[in-house]
Amino acid sequence: MERILDGQVALITGSTSGIGLGIARIFAAAGAKVMLNGFGKPEDIAAARAEIGALMGVAQCPYSAADMSRPAEIEAMVREAEALSGRLDILVNNAGIQHVSPVQDFPPEKWDAIIAINLSSNFHAIRAALPGMLARGHGRIINVASAHGLVASPYKTAYVAAKHGVVGLTKSVALEIAEAPITCNAICPGFVRTPLAEAQVKPLAEKHGISEEEALRDHLLAKQPSKRWVEVDEVARMALYLVGPGSGGVNGAALSIDGGWLAA
Ligand code: NAD
Repeated sequence: MERILDGQVALITGSTSGIGLGIARIFAAAGAKVMLNGFGKPEDIAAARAEIGALMGVAQCPYSAADMSRPAEIEAMVREAEALSGRLDILVNNAGIQHVSPVQDFPPEKWDAIIAINLSSNFHAIRAALPGMLARGHGRIINVASAHGLVASPYKTAYVAAKHGVVGLTKSVALEIAEAPITCNAICPGFVRTPLAEAQVKPLAEKHGISEEEALRDHLLAKQPSKRWVEVDEVARMALYLVGPGSGGVNGAALSIDGGWLAA
């Protein structure tokens, strides 16, 4: 891997698992100093820190346990990342949760949690990180939205509302920083093979009385014309493009990586 991020510091929220961990892997392999964030079993977090640390040539990579539903913890996490080397070049807002339910049964506390973690955390992190990026004259912000940031599906009201909000936030921030050497873009994946998405297969199979393969193909991936998962590494490579050299002209974009979902 070419070390195109040598010397840069990257903070990736929700990076103890799935897409965030995949982005951490590729950024660290490209030379970045990566700070992880997210929840999980202590041994899984330790394993992720050791794996990313090995790519950085240290025993354990930096890690913040900040809860993305808590604005004060988000601000402290950004300050901690800046303190690593006196700079924060890359912010990836990736942490996210899901809840599936008809709107009339949707628990209000789930709505609040999804809006806080999937949308408001992006605002709080950008708000905290942007002044330093402007002062240092360099910055790359990626918000991991979703195909559900561009189109809806039933029973995912909070998620769809939050992800549409992320795309709007991305565009607005992009316009504000358009003349600075900073970009702010959203990645809009379809179904990606991660714990968050795979957890939806079994309940679908049980609900419809079909096999998990049928549930995956005919229900979960019904809208994804490729009829296959997008892989974490494919999303990570899109993120690497957005933070690497030659992508400075891409700003305010909502980039689909969804096996053709939005084309239909
Ligand atoms: P995942 O469940 O594998 O990972 C989610 C990460 O967020 C984990 O590290 C988890 O610990 C962290 N997290 C959850 N709540 C948190 C909190 N309060 N504070 C800090 N961290 C928290 O999920 P994933 O599939 O990798 O999803 C990552 C992002 O990609 C999410 O924003 C998700 O909406 C988005 N996305 C996923 C898919 C998909 O099919 N997997 C598709 C489109 C978009």
